[in-house]
Amino acid sequence: MPKEKYSQSEADAIELRWKEVQIAEIEERLADRKDRRERMEATRARQLEDYKKGQAEMLRRQRVCKHRKGGKNNRFSDGNDANYSVNRNTYPLGREVIMCTRCFKEVERPAAALRKTDPELYAKMAAEWNEWSRFPSDNTPSGSKMFEVAHAAA
Ligand SMILES: [Zn+2]
Repeated sequence: MPKEKYSQSEADAIELRWKEVQIAEIEERLADRKDRRERMEATRARQLEDYKKGQAEMLRRQRVCKHRKGGKNNRFSDGNDANYSVNRNTYPLGREVIMCTRCFKEVERPAAALRKTDPELYAKMAAEWNEWSRFPSDNTPSGSKMFEVAHAAA
């Protein structure tokens, strides 16, 4: 039961204890926050590492992929069919790409404006686009050909 009246030294002791408890609580909160921050940083670092590994693996797969269908055991990199495993897509904002469905490499038709701003990149992209455009594929629906003709005429 609390006393009615404390001596000065008792009051000082209580106040000191009170301050100690508060400091301990603050320290605990700070330690928790530090732990949380460190865990988040570790998670972020791991995610970045995973992402980089994933990107590197994707690029590796894209380098070895033949972008063709078929192949022994249907291994993506051993495609040997006459038909290529590519699809032509137009994104909503008009970016036209040809994508390999085995390695997910995308080859983009260079924008006409790029010819002025970066002729070297334009030439490189155009060469790859033209090469991929010639890949025979039974994936390409005739509709996209008609679209291409209509697009070229516009
Ligand atoms: Zn491919």
